[in-house]
Amino acid sequence: MSLGSFASDDSKRQRALPIPPASASMKTFTPDSSIASDVIPSANYGDRAKGRLPDMIVLHYTGMPDVEGAIARLCTAGTDVSAHYIVLEDGRIVQCVPEAKRAWHAGVASWAGEEDINSCSIGIEIVNRGHDWGYPDFPLRQTAAVIALCRGIMLRRKIPSHRVLGHSDVAPARKKDPGEKFPWHSLANSGVGHWVQPAPIVRGEPLKLGIISDDVRDLQQALARYGYAIPINGKYDAATMEVVTAFQRHFRPARVDGIADHSTLTTLQALLASLPNETKATAR
Ligand SMILES: [Zn+2]
Repeated sequence: MSLGSFASDDSKRQRALPIPPASASMKTFTPDSSIASDVIPSANYGDRAKGRLPDMIVLHYTGMPDVEGAIARLCTAGTDVSAHYIVLEDGRIVQCVPEAKRAWHAGVASWAGEEDINSCSIGIEIVNRGHDWGYPDFPLRQTAAVIALCRGIMLRRKIPSHRVLGHSDVAPARKKDPGEKFPWHSLANSGVGHWVQPAPIVRGEPLKLGIISDDVRDLQQALARYGYAIPINGKYDAATMEVVTAFQRHFRPARVDGIADHSTLTTLQALLASLPNETKATAR
């Protein structure tokens, strides 16, 4: 094939990035990741509190009907939201906020006792319409790009696998993203994120909304030990159900119902048992 025929074939060309007008006039910067193909500077960021270095990655989906709207929202002043990176469906990676700065992606959130998640994390927005707009599958090219981006960040920043989390993990009462279709197992197969094969779903007496027992307290303690913010009161209340739902979206996606069945409990125990030793020693 001649170069001419290749270049004239529109289907081979990548769609131009929808750069919001305000970003076009902003000062650009050199991307931190060597595989980020573009920089679209966001107006929305600040300094990390007390000069904290990021030691966590939080994955999101954009949850908007189109990529143009998502990029405009994440980059335009006044929306008060942003992320360090956006990963498009075709696998292109756009950086919007330098990693040294605090992007505004997590909102009210908590993990392992830390509440200023924006100050200690890198936020990655994955373009996907989300639960409100049909929730399509994540294309393979996009997943491969997320894996490569995360691997680079983890290496450069010495971020351990169990600190690669979903928005729903750090904000279970408010968020569903990146959701139960997100291929966490594929990421884990490539060394990104902590994951174990979920235990099979079997019949049995589950823990569920309304139950008050020591078993519920044990469940709450186990979820808290893993990092989730959850009251430890022995009551299977709405907050407990939300955290179990978030846990299932990430770690037992075959059934996301907020009911702690045998499979959910066994998967949680297996995750805790496979945490690195230094984490277990410091877990509260
Ligand atoms: Zn999110």
